[in-house]
Amino acid sequence: MRTVYFDNNATTPVHPEVAEAIQPFLREFFGNPSSLHFAGRDVKVPYEKAREQIAAMVGAKVGEIVITGCGSESNNHAIKGIAYAGGGKRGHIITSQVEHPAVLNVCRYLETQGFSATYLPVDGLGLVDPDDVKRAIRKDTILISVMYANNETGTLMPIADIARIARDRGVVFHSDMVQALGKVDIDLAALGVDMASFSGHKVYAPKGIGALYVRGGIEIDNLIHGGHQESGRRAGTENVIGIVAFGAACDIAGREIKKDSARIEGLRRRLLEGILERVDDVRLNGHPTQRLPNTLNLSFEFIESESLLVALDMKGIAVSSGSACSSGSTEPSHVLLAMGIPGPLCQSALRLSLGRGNTEEEIDYALETIPGVVARLRSMSPFYKK
Ligand SMILES: *Cc1c(COP(=O)(O)O)cnc(C)c1O
Repeated sequence: MRTVYFDNNATTPVHPEVAEAIQPFLREFFGNPSSLHFAGRDVKVPYEKAREQIAAMVGAKVGEIVITGCGSESNNHAIKGIAYAGGGKRGHIITSQVEHPAVLNVCRYLETQGFSATYLPVDGLGLVDPDDVKRAIRKDTILISVMYANNETGTLMPIADIARIARDRGVVFHSDMVQALGKVDIDLAALGVDMASFSGHKVYAPKGIGALYVRGGIEIDNLIHGGHQESGRRAGTENVIGIVAFGAACDIAGREIKKDSARIEGLRRRLLEGILERVDDVRLNGHPTQRLPNTLNLSFEFIESESLLVALDMKGIAVSSGSACSSGSTEPSHVLLAMGIPGPLCQSALRLSLGRGNTEEEIDYALETIPGVVARLRSMSPFYKK
């Protein structure tokens, strides 16, 4: 059976050039980068080159990139790192209701430890209002954390405006940029954010590697204590293979971002227009224009998205309902609920996230397949009267 992968926001396949780049480190070069002998040197240099590649991709200085184990760790490190840098003080954190669980649940945890948090609402398109950020700042506010691109809807937040407010008020600003990397240009110096989280497996590197940008001068506590790796900022023998892969993936993304994004956006537009033409009662969730080029979030009224997901899987099409992180639960998406989308429409929301592997032909196949599957499921729905 043919398979079509439309779940690139959950994870991406490893790029063939990335797989090629890590071969020597699977076979010959096995050293510990901290070792002073030849085996250590063999991996230390490529390790540091990969850090340069990541820094170059996001407009950071090399010394501002801390390598982590994943995007979730980066978010934990940033938020707990600021929270506990204040000694015994228990400050206030501002975030949004549509963050990834790796931000939301860190803030909720810190609330159990005596910190306080404000979860800002979003409008119907999924945007945080920068004026709400301004109003939420208190004397004891230590951190603002608002994501760049939402993983479920693809909506892009007004990050530069929020960064300006944070800077004016002297509050540290962190942004989860895991979904933005490789899809839209990121120039951290120009954006004015203080910390930003990234993950390798969303940009065609393997799972289990991430990075945290920490602007020079920002002091944060360590998350993992131990050896002196990462200039004493993150203990643990370095994931050489992971970082070489992540560096290569950033290098490729840097070269191909314009071309890839334009092509993928074209595919997404065709998919959206094709579905709207062929299927009634479909609603696009998220911002119509201020969004990632690859992500579609659609509510197919009168259908449970789980049934649609399973039926499409049987036709070889991989999509997601809500986000990978909340699947397994039948809870409606916290992102769509925060946008004020009515419960039944949240329950029928499907995410289709395209990537560099997708082709015109796959869009054709999806457009041939989806209308029939939707019609069949609707014909079984007691709510559908047409
Ligand atoms: C995937 C994702 C993460 C988590 O990254 P991992 O490397 O899987 O831990 C964090 N934030 C967003 C927005 C994501 O999409």
